[in-house]
Amino acid sequence: MNVFELAEEMGHEQVVFCHDADSGLRAIVAIHDTTLGPALGGTRMWDYDTEEEALVDVLRLSEGMTYKSSAMGLNLGGGKAVIMGDPRSDKSEQMWRAFGRFVHSLGGRYITAEDVGTSPQDMDYVAEETSYVVGLMHKSGDPSPVTAYGVYKGIKAGCKWALDSEDLQGVTVAVQGIGSVGYALCEYLHEEGAELLVADIYPEQVEKTVDEFGATAVDPDDIYSVECDVFAPCALGAVINDDTIDQLKCGVVAGAANNQLAEDHHGENLRQKGILYAPDYVINGGGVINVAHEFAPGGYKRELALRKVDQIYDRLLEVFATSEREDIPTNEAADRIAEERIEKIARVKRIRI
Ligand code: NAD
Repeated sequence: MNVFELAEEMGHEQVVFCHDADSGLRAIVAIHDTTLGPALGGTRMWDYDTEEEALVDVLRLSEGMTYKSSAMGLNLGGGKAVIMGDPRSDKSEQMWRAFGRFVHSLGGRYITAEDVGTSPQDMDYVAEETSYVVGLMHKSGDPSPVTAYGVYKGIKAGCKWALDSEDLQGVTVAVQGIGSVGYALCEYLHEEGAELLVADIYPEQVEKTVDEFGATAVDPDDIYSVECDVFAPCALGAVINDDTIDQLKCGVVAGAANNQLAEDHHGENLRQKGILYAPDYVINGGGVINVAHEFAPGGYKRELALRKVDQIYDRLLEVFATSEREDIPTNEAADRIAEERIEKIARVKRIRI
């Protein structure tokens, strides 16, 4: 694999490989685009099978952050980091602090936060070595509940557009992945009277939602093919692919996972099937909005962050309307909206002050 060719193809500015033999740290930081501001995006820890898999993941995730921040109207660019290792066994203070020093060495071009496999507590160690980290316990904290709130609002927008009602009473939602976001999402959905079908590769994760919200547990392999109104992917990416699209029996795909479409054309495939897709980086923008509020004048205030997250509802309706008007899939409509803002702000920045 040629890293420069990939970076050129996807438009990345910088890719940094970080290694610390003592702590076992093997990390990749990818900075996609800093037109709008410093690149912000979480650090994912995952037991990747190969370095190539980790590289492709960080390149895709950081590109997604550029689009997400732009679509949310934030003055931030796109970046992301991945750490190769098992989050259940390979973490240590030493590793996080080594990672923090690498982040600091980038001088603020990249600001990190938590993501899959990492926690606000891990970020507290990172903060021992750098100020370029957000989502800390004593500031905005875990972004997952706020992300879940945004996804809940996004599901309402999807239902408004596809089912002509944003009321979720009696609406069936299949949630894949009952982690930090998936669980909080189930809570919002249950409160509004939605019927829940839930799947996770760890059975103990789904048990809580069965006990507390009356959810029905589904085998992880069967979650794609259950009859439902909304399929909410809240685990990992690339779950909308050639294999799964044919299985889907839902009207709307709307969930938290990043990079849900394995390939761009899967957005068009969903459209042809009459399934409304809420583009991932728009519906899951609550987390980045939440951590970005740490930079607000006067400091972080959850209420203000949540009011901004409410805008996901209208932003999605704008995406759906653009898709219909331009006769293009929703993922393409979202890309257009995000790219147009970056182009416009780049032109503004040409004015010398
Ligand atoms: P998490 O690690 O807490 O939860 C993910 C869950 O998915 C885990 O319980 C895991 O066991 C489960 N899972 C993994 N593979 C699965 C499979 N094949 N089938 C069913 N379940 C499976 O992560 P999270 O913070 O809840 O994030 C979930 C998704 O949302 C990720 O894609 C993440 O990138 C995205 N996201 C999260 C945030 C946030 O604020 N946490 C923000 C934006 C996007």
